[in-house]
Amino acid sequence: MKIGIPRALAYYAYYPFFTTFFEKLGLEVVVSDETTKEIMDLGIEDTITDACVPLKLFHGHVRNLMNRVDYVFVPRLVSVNHEATFCPKFLGLPDMVICSIPKLKNMLEVRIDLKKSRFELFKLCMKLARRFKKGFFKAYNAYLKACLSLKNYAHQFLQGGIPPLGIVGQKKNKAITLAVVGYPYILYDPYLSLDLIKKLIDMGVYVVTPEMIAKEDKQKQVGKIRKNLFWTFSNEVIRTAYSLFEKGSVDGIIHVTAFGCGPDFIVDKLMEIDAKKYNMPFLTVTIDEHTGQEGLNTRLEAFVDMLKIKKAKKEAALA
Ligand code: SF4
Repeated sequence: MKIGIPRALAYYAYYPFFTTFFEKLGLEVVVSDETTKEIMDLGIEDTITDACVPLKLFHGHVRNLMNRVDYVFVPRLVSVNHEATFCPKFLGLPDMVICSIPKLKNMLEVRIDLKKSRFELFKLCMKLARRFKKGFFKAYNAYLKACLSLKNYAHQFLQGGIPPLGIVGQKKNKAITLAVVGYPYILYDPYLSLDLIKKLIDMGVYVVTPEMIAKEDKQKQVGKIRKNLFWTFSNEVIRTAYSLFEKGSVDGIIHVTAFGCGPDFIVDKLMEIDAKKYNMPFLTVTIDEHTGQEGLNTRLEAFVDMLKIKKAKKEAALA
C-alpha cells in the first residue's frame, strides 16, 4: 500500500510526523518530486487564476503523485493549538482538490483540528490505522514514534539553526545577518522561493528564519503586537519579526510572500509599518509563478549592499 504525500503546504512543517506514522504502520510513503516548472504548470492548469501560488503548486504535486500511489494524502488542517486556525485555503483544501482534479479517485482526507480535545491527534491516528486494518499496538507505537520524530525535527531547527530539509550549513561569522520571514512552504521550496536563502548565503549573509527563533521568544510577543492574527503560520511570521525588531539582533528583514495570499496583505503591512518605528530595514519580495531570477538577484544585491554601507557608517561613527 503506497501513500503519496504532496511536497507542498503543510508538508514543510509537519512531514516528519505523517511520514513516520505511515511508515511505522507498515505503509510505503511516496513524496512527490521536487518542484519543477512542469509541476507548477500542472497546478496552474487545474486551479482558478486568482488562487495563491502555493495552492496552485499543491495541485501540481497531487497530479505528480496520483497515478503512482494508492492514496494521495490531503489533510484538512484546521488547528494545532487553541489560539488560531490555519488560513481558509488549508481548511478547504480537500474540497478544492477534489473539485479541481475530478480524475483524482484516491484521496485520503483527514481533518486535523487539535483544539477539539487533548487527545485529538491520537484519536485521528487510531482512526487512520483502523482504515488500513492495523492493530492498536502497532498504531500506538507508530503514533509515539511520529511524535518523537516531529519533536526532534523542531529541536534540530532551534539548536542547530538548520532550516527544514537541511538546505544550508551556515557559518555565523558573516558581515551581515538577515532574517528571511515567510511561510515554510514558500521559503523552503527552492523552486518557489527562487532559492532566495541560498542566494543570500552565497552573498555572504547569515540567514535567520522563523524556525530558528525559540518558541518562547515568539510567544513573548503575544499581546505586544497591535493585532493578534487568526492564522497559525501568519502568527509565526509576525511574532518572529517583532521579536527581532525588539532585540535588534539582525541587520534587516526580508518578507517573502506569495502573489494572491490574502493573510499577507495584513501581515506585510503591519511589519512594514512597525519596521520603520524600530528603524529596521525591511524588504518585501512577492513571488508569483512568473517571477524571474534576474529581477530578484538585483533587488537582493541592492538590499545587501545598502545594509553593508549602513553598517560600515555606523561602525565608523562609533570608532
Ligand atoms: S496563507 Fe497565503 S500563501 Fe498560504 S495558503 Fe493561505 S493564502 Fe495561500
